[in-house]
Amino acid sequence: MRISDVLRDKGGRVVTVAPDLPVQDLLTELAEQRIGAAVVSGDGTAVDGIVSERDIVRALAVRGAAVLAEPVSAIATTRVFTIGADADIAEVERLMTEHRFRHVPVVTDGRLTGIVSIGDVVKKRITELEVEANALTGYITGERA
Ligand code: AMP
Repeated sequence: MRISDVLRDKGGRVVTVAPDLPVQDLLTELAEQRIGAAVVSGDGTAVDGIVSERDIVRALAVRGAAVLAEPVSAIATTRVFTIGADADIAEVERLMTEHRFRHVPVVTDGRLTGIVSIGDVVKKRITELEVEANALTGYITGERA
């Protein structure tokens, strides 16, 4: 199963934020969109960074509430691991496990075309297991699922 299969189900919409957006506004964006991370992008298509709830928590713990007035670029991760749409879903699982993050932007020809979260991966795997279990049950009982 490929990343493009995941994007076919969930769509390619990605929430991006400008590097100079205040952290306070980032909080609003994450809350309103019900997401845990946003891609930092100056033009909406290039991946300049990624910022997640964890970056906010860490910065708050170290610098206190003053961080809310700082730009997103002050707390974002700039070395971003991305994945291509043709990659196998196992590759994104490996990246998430190895580097302990839960979001991977999808980049096609240098442009941001989607994002895969650990929730998307788990959902896809559960569907896959259900289909497999139904097929096996059908095979054993002689009934078609
Ligand atoms: P997350 O688990 O996605 O909330 O992110 C945990 C930490 O990893 C945060 O510091 C994020 O900025 C960072 N992070 C999240 N996704 C990526 C990624 N694809 N590449 C590099 N760092 C990331």
